[in-house]
Amino acid sequence: MSAAGQSSLMPVEEALRRLLERADATPVQGRETVILAQADGRVLAQPLIAPLDLPPWPNSAMDGYALCLTDWQGTPLPVSQRIQAGEAPPALQPGTCARIFTGAPLPAGADTVEMQENVTLEADGRVCFAAPLRAGQNVRPQGQETRVGDCVLPAGTRLGPIELGLAASLGQAQLEVCRRVRVAVLSTGDELVEPGEPLAAGQIYNSNRRLLIAWLQRLGCEVVDGGILADDLAKTRAALAALNDVDLILSTGGVSVGEADFLGVALREAGELMLWKLAIKPGKPLTFGQFRGVPVIGLPGNPASTLVTFGLLARPYLLRRMGVQRVEPLGVELPAGFTWSKAGQRREYLRARLEGGQVVPYANQSSGVLRSAAWAEGLAEVREGTTLEPGERLRFIPLSELLG
Ligand code: AMP
Ligand code: MG
Repeated sequence: MSAAGQSSLMPVEEALRRLLERADATPVQGRETVILAQADGRVLAQPLIAPLDLPPWPNSAMDGYALCLTDWQGTPLPVSQRIQAGEAPPALQPGTCARIFTGAPLPAGADTVEMQENVTLEADGRVCFAAPLRAGQNVRPQGQETRVGDCVLPAGTRLGPIELGLAASLGQAQLEVCRRVRVAVLSTGDELVEPGEPLAAGQIYNSNRRLLIAWLQRLGCEVVDGGILADDLAKTRAALAALNDVDLILSTGGVSVGEADFLGVALREAGELMLWKLAIKPGKPLTFGQFRGVPVIGLPGNPASTLVTFGLLARPYLLRRMGVQRVEPLGVELPAGFTWSKAGQRREYLRARLEGGQVVPYANQSSGVLRSAAWAEGLAEVREGTTLEPGERLRFIPLSELLG
């Protein structure tokens, strides 16, 4: 690997830091209470504090026999009761044991469970414990998982199947969540038409709109579909002005250097414009600013650039505005299954998949080729100024980390 060269481009970390700083300063206000069935994908607005112990009472981890350990002196014990899950047993009679099943409450007086495979039954039904017993074995004590008052999930937790299961285990029928973030999606470009329309000469179908809307919905956002915006300053102004009740305007296209940048002009006139040249490939140009107080992110228009910049920058920004603290995707270090001989100034995110435990990039890494990402399982990060030989490790970010 060689050292990173000098570059006037903004490092990805720096762009992310600035975006998150802004997101922290403008958290989305408002909460609502939703039933668990509607809470998947939402963000917890206040900590979930355990209202009960889990388990609420000591219970058996095995199908077997419950006893008080000191009652076992080598003489077989008679079975005085049978306890199944869902029952509330009376106290254990001294000098006896109880037939017990997994999840059933331990009767008062019992402190130990032996699994049924380790006992022998006398002809008269009394139980002989063969193996040495340890007090408390196979017993799940009250509060083993959670105690009343524990903070089980902090505010800002994104709720998924696991969190919902946990909330249910604590008897929560509903949860207080942050209101959905409203995001307007604008696709800029005179060349764009929607699927279903005929394609005239010079036109292409709008892929970013569908890509972003579906993705935003997965992130739990409420989407305002701004449709296609012509490359025209007056229309750009009007479109931005109409989107005054959203938390973010997300546009694609029209931010390439050298192009008449109508979004930039409109932001400069009536808000704030930061035009960043990022050390990222694909996706160098990124616009960040606000129009009459509404934050705006302008992503580059090439679909693979849209994908990478949304996933690595806009997604964490949005999550942070929802109050989520851990917003960066997990990456794993994996061996390269390719050679990278030219150290670049920009950090490259190759659309790649795993083959035989190695990271293999799609053959065509052009920023216009969305098919690369459909083939891929993740983004392979080739840091600025580095070369790679097969077997050298690089960070691989599974797409599943970004898409949800
Ligand atoms: P721009 O940033 O507007 O110069 O666009 C860069 C490239 O991305 C051009 O080839 C555009 O045609 C293409 N592009 C821009 N927006 C979209 C879109 N919504 N869907 C598909 N391609 C797009
Ligand atoms: Mg354009």
